[in-house]
Amino acid sequence: MLSERVDDFLLLILSSPSGAGKTTLSNRLRGEFPNLRFSVSHTTRRPRPTEVDGREYHFVDRPSFEKMIRAGAFAEHAEVHGNLYGTTVREIDLARESAGGVMFDIDYQGARQIKAHFPEAVGVFVLPPSLAELERRLRGRGTEDEATTTRRLAAAKGEIAHYGFFDYVIVNDDVDQAYGRLRGIVLAERCKRERWARRCESLLSEAKREASS
Ligand code: ADP
Ligand code: 5GP
Repeated sequence: MLSERVDDFLLLILSSPSGAGKTTLSNRLRGEFPNLRFSVSHTTRRPRPTEVDGREYHFVDRPSFEKMIRAGAFAEHAEVHGNLYGTTVREIDLARESAGGVMFDIDYQGARQIKAHFPEAVGVFVLPPSLAELERRLRGRGTEDEATTTRRLAAAKGEIAHYGFFDYVIVNDDVDQAYGRLRGIVLAERCKRERWARRCESLLSEAKREASS
């Protein structure tokens, strides 16, 4: 019996400790797979100088975010490093209407909620080569003040502890190699038999019709 899961829409979750490289990898993925829509989350975090409202995030204040929670606007939401982050139901609906898939850059708490709604979602956890290198990257990025950097580094171990929840793990040592692994996952997931069941069944029906005519 073929699976009921015949949807070829890919839900891809990228998670990692802060600074491991998921933004870097997801930007490359967006360049190569334009029909994979990047899910723009809402957050109460302040924008970084290079960030544009509506592009990296929808930046909102805490009362607005909390109002959205009460209104049931979020498919998932969580408090991460002292700020609220969430993916709206609308963001996923928009992707379903216009794209071949959606990519979420969310933490493990959000990943768990998305998986609960959509068990077919594919979870990828990005690991730094070492904790020392994670610290170098986070500091080298220069986007966080000292207190935030310390807080994010302290959270890293707790985040890595949730690796078992993901389908794939990528060590982001050399960025080209890490990206090669990520694109390999996307290509393989798109070839999963379950996604092609409808096409296979339709060819079988056609063959049956031809045989009986
Ligand atoms: P995240 O989105 O997981 O917080 P970023 O993608 O912002 O992480 O990466 C953190 C920093 O590390 C950035 O300055 C980025 O350019 C750098 N970086 C990402 N991947 C690598 C890599 N493989 N080797 C060296 N530096 C990297
Ligand atoms: P940053 O502040 O560095 O952009 O993101 C901090 C953390 O919040 C990262 O682990 C990122 O994946 C996570 N995050 C970003 N958007 C969302 C979201 O919509 N939901 C959840 N649960 N986490 C998010």
